[in-house]
Amino acid sequence: MNSSTPVITFHNIEKNFGSLKVLKGISGEINRGEVVAVIGSSGCGKSTLLRCFNRLEKIDSGHLTVNGINLSHPQFNQKQLRQLRTQVGMVFQQFNLFPHLTVLENLILAPCKVLGKTRKESTQQAGFYLEKVGLFDKASAYPQQLSGGQKQRVAIARSLCMNPQIMLFDEPTSALDPELVGEVLQVMQELATEGMTMVVVTHEMQFAREVAHRVIFMDKGIVAEQGPASEVISNPRSDRLRTFLSRLN
Ligand code: ADP
Ligand code: MG
Repeated sequence: MNSSTPVITFHNIEKNFGSLKVLKGISGEINRGEVVAVIGSSGCGKSTLLRCFNRLEKIDSGHLTVNGINLSHPQFNQKQLRQLRTQVGMVFQQFNLFPHLTVLENLILAPCKVLGKTRKESTQQAGFYLEKVGLFDKASAYPQQLSGGQKQRVAIARSLCMNPQIMLFDEPTSALDPELVGEVLQVMQELATEGMTMVVVTHEMQFAREVAHRVIFMDKGIVAEQGPASEVISNPRSDRLRTFLSRLN
């Protein structure tokens, strides 16, 4: 489903790290139910943009609204931050599971602590999402007993347990052995089919082409090209995008 209700709008946002200008006035929007792939060379600002969306980074200027929460308002407060963090899930390249907790405990921690759900309710829900990512039988395992692909599927299930409206993925398959990439992409594809709003930083062009509705190509802190996935990937307009795509093959 791809209606055109924007859930993330960003206008002219800038982000600097000291004297390094990383986002140089980026604008765009992500619609409800839309899957957007963000591509571009290492260091062009993809992670920074994604991290601004859930306020792991604070923008220096511009306007940013995520799911109705105005992140550029000077009085943005802790209550809004908590709201934002429950509404926006994020999956990282390195999984970030708690190693000393079982899979189940990883999944129910935030629903219990942050959402105040009972252990019983959280456990039920965790079971549902573990089933969904095909890991129901791993509930009592510890992360170190899992493959990379399984860890990442657990990380996705953990995010889903917060019932997010938006899911951000930062190179979710980049740390995986090639043979484990497919199982993670498949879970993401299912989520997309169910209508989840997703922003996915990825180098998987086949995934971008087949699953993403739109592709944003970033280059040195700006949006250099964007459009329907098939068009942007099959018919790059700029030399930079052509070069970027040819290097991936
Ligand atoms: P990408 O995800 O596209 O590879 P990033 O958004 O991670 O790029 O980084 C963009 C630039 O910002 C890089 O030059 C990186 O070194 C720099 N950068 C990212 N995070 C920080 C930080 N916390 N402090 C200083 N520099 C950073
Ligand atoms: Mg990155």
